[in-house]
Amino acid sequence: MEGNDLGCFLNGSWTPGEGVLNVSHDPARGHALVWSGTGASSAQVDAAVMSARGAFEGWADRTPEERAQYFDGLQDLLDKHADRLADAMISEMGKPLREARAEAGSLAAKVRVSAIAREALPDFALPNAPGESRWRPLGPMGVIGPYNYPVHLLHTHVAPALLAGNTVVVKPSEVTPLTGQIYGEIMAELGLPDGVFNLVQGGGEVGAALAGHPGCAGLAFTGSWATGRRILEANLDHPHKLVALEMGGRNVAVVLDDADLHQAVHELVVGCCLTTGQRCTATSRVVVQAGIAPRLMAALVRALGQVRPGDPREDDTLMGPLASEAAQTRYIEALDRLATTSAVPLLAPSTPPGGAWVTPSLHQCTSPDAGWRAYIEHEFFGPDLALEVVADAEEALERVRWSPYGLSMSVFTANEAIFEWFVARAPAGIFNWNRSTNNASGLLPFGGVGRSGNFRPAGSTGALYCAHSIAVLRKAHGVFDADPRFGPIVHAAIEE
Ligand code: NAD
Repeated sequence: MEGNDLGCFLNGSWTPGEGVLNVSHDPARGHALVWSGTGASSAQVDAAVMSARGAFEGWADRTPEERAQYFDGLQDLLDKHADRLADAMISEMGKPLREARAEAGSLAAKVRVSAIAREALPDFALPNAPGESRWRPLGPMGVIGPYNYPVHLLHTHVAPALLAGNTVVVKPSEVTPLTGQIYGEIMAELGLPDGVFNLVQGGGEVGAALAGHPGCAGLAFTGSWATGRRILEANLDHPHKLVALEMGGRNVAVVLDDADLHQAVHELVVGCCLTTGQRCTATSRVVVQAGIAPRLMAALVRALGQVRPGDPREDDTLMGPLASEAAQTRYIEALDRLATTSAVPLLAPSTPPGGAWVTPSLHQCTSPDAGWRAYIEHEFFGPDLALEVVADAEEALERVRWSPYGLSMSVFTANEAIFEWFVARAPAGIFNWNRSTNNASGLLPFGGVGRSGNFRPAGSTGALYCAHSIAVLRKAHGVFDADPRFGPIVHAAIEE
């Protein structure tokens, strides 16, 4: 695979890593080695944060327009590197060609949206306030990304952070280091001032060193709830740090009796299978009303049974492999645990040989026992649907609330008022009426509640976690309202 190990990007230069070996493998080609490099040492993480701290004041002093100008060349650079970027994603995590190209092609638009979102955070004053509220950048920020969107989920935080005047230290996923490095090369070619953009490679130990670093003023993390929890723990003594957590999902689609069956089945299958079910917004639960349930289940079994994983390099592949051998092992172990629960396989999974292959599966709840509750309380991250039949919308809402996650949900119904009833009550950050839980929009807020996130929505409101508001109060030179108690004392002291 093209791409030598460049190491870490520190203070404007690529520097060989001094940490531990970091390798990636091709999950569609028998886990063949793709790339090998050396991650950052903890001293290099320190150096990266110091570099970002050093560059912060100069960068924050520039106007938003000056900062935005650095991104003018991004589209050309993306055009130049798009194929390499897509190839790296395909090789390192098996993302199908179309999805990889779409991800690589989305980065320039993100800058435009982030610039508009930043402008939408105006300085303001309430009537009769003695000053105004302003937004100020946080300072150096850490950005830690997952493997499933290995470029987009770095860039989606880097763009608003830099435009708002912060500097960044980025750590790509250890599953996709080459992809992360190519993103670093693109950012390096933008010619940002030294220290504004830094990148360190490596696994959990490098992430932990960055996440808990007291020198960062903010952290944008995307990954699992388990890691997010460790990050919160690591920051108990850093109350100044704005920690934005985008974590997992166990996203529910509610299908009511008046749903359009064709539409619902299409959206469920797409929601389950895109990116092999490894999207934080993937549909992984179906709560269906009894009247439509038999037809929905029969159609799901037939449709999902037709979806077979294929070569991610082919243009018409529906679904690639899981991202890695480790991801496949975790997924199979989770499926195996279902054997001891009341989950009935309507469509059993299989694991074809030669890579991290899995086929879609569908499990029905026959009795909501402790085993079933455990099943739907954990994120699955693969093409599996957990299906429950309920009597009505009230019971559907109760079942939706069983999951500790709350990222994206769908309601399939002809009745908009029922949909709005769910919007007002259900624990989620993204609500879809008659559409898949997948395919969220960057032009709207993106984030979840519960174990999915901590109320720091990204997407169109990403600028909010890259700045903090300050109060600015002033008086005209020499003017003050003399306090009747202190005024005479001060007056006498000056006259003396
Ligand atoms: P992960 O939590 O295993 O790893 C994410 C990143 O955290 C990696 O870069 C990893 O090296 C780093 N890391 C590991 N241990 C760390 C520690 N102690 N401190 C700091 N960083 C550490 O997640 P993953 O398996 O790469 O990605 C899949 C997860 O990401 C799923 O749970 C998925 O739902 C979630 N995700 C969420 C969103 C969202 O926007 N909510 C989007 C995509 C993925």
